[in-house]
Amino acid sequence: MNSAPLFRKLALIGFGLIGGSIARGAKALGLAGEIVATARSPQTRARVQELGIVDRVVETNAEAVEGADLVILCIPVGACGPVAQEIAPHLAPGAIVSDVGSVKGAVLKAMAPYLPEGVHFVPAHPVAGTENSGPDSGFAELFVNRWCILTPPEGANADAVDKLGAFWRGLGANVEVMTADHHDLVLAVTSHLPHLIAYTIVSTAEELEGVTQSEVLKFSAGGFRDFTRIAASDPTMWRDVFLTNKDAVLEMLGEFQEDLSKLTRAIRRGDGDALFEHFTRTRAIRRGVVQIGQDEAAADFGRRPKQLGAKAE
Ligand code: NAP
Repeated sequence: MNSAPLFRKLALIGFGLIGGSIARGAKALGLAGEIVATARSPQTRARVQELGIVDRVVETNAEAVEGADLVILCIPVGACGPVAQEIAPHLAPGAIVSDVGSVKGAVLKAMAPYLPEGVHFVPAHPVAGTENSGPDSGFAELFVNRWCILTPPEGANADAVDKLGAFWRGLGANVEVMTADHHDLVLAVTSHLPHLIAYTIVSTAEELEGVTQSEVLKFSAGGFRDFTRIAASDPTMWRDVFLTNKDAVLEMLGEFQEDLSKLTRAIRRGDGDALFEHFTRTRAIRRGVVQIGQDEAAADFGRRPKQLGAKAE
């Protein structure tokens, strides 16, 4: 905010919830000298131009990355490989290339082969979001007090990892570094499985006989409402997550099904002690989440501008 920006030119490829939030935060905090953005469709590019958040909107990915010292792909995981191939010949030597994809192993595999020597590839995943998408949905405070996980490949340039970490800290995030495989396992249970469960419950309720749609909606505050919010998340993004983190999700799904069978058995047998013991354990986990500041009344969903820059830890 006070001294020279961390990066001379930030290129954002994709301008939805995450790209738009990075742009708004980086602009507000002066993290880049110039911010150039592009998006796939002319409609999104026109809207980004209208919003006036970035310094320049350009038509092509190649043009966006010219001379950039930080390039961030803010697009669905499945699109990262082809875009890496497209931008590779236009990247400036020494540039840091990153992404924000919710799956890291697949992104690493898809992008790394295309990136030239002398360019530093540091994949990242900001663990923050809402169910909204598109250029209007972002906000500068999205990453405040959330975690951003960096998954540099083996032998990555340490300075580049530090510099990207400093960028995310600048946006208000806490930063952790881990391998892509470990990231994918952890996120399978903390994010991917919960989304799968939400998608399932919401469609189960929709297809129910004997309970009307209007009753489902009317009495949704009984728990269903929170699932509908998660199940409203972007279909393209989540299709790509399940296609690209297949192994870890299947492993966690196996564990989940075993636990569900245990609870099913306890209900069938009228085993109140087992149910009580189970719910007591899970309540403690919820309290732990609140204690470490990872939840508020509305979780990430609906988080709104608060105190950008007044980063908690
Ligand atoms: P979004 O709001 O839907 O925006 C996606 C952007 O990607 C749009 O600018 C879109 O362009 C562009 N795009 C879509 N398909 C493309 C393709 N095949 N090639 C090139 N560009 C394409 O999505 P988002 O929520 O910001 O998610 C972006 C990334 O962030 C995803 O990888 C996701 O896994 C990750 N992420 C999301 C969240 C979350 O909660 N949403 C949280 C953490 C990380 P057009 O508008 O022109 O179609």
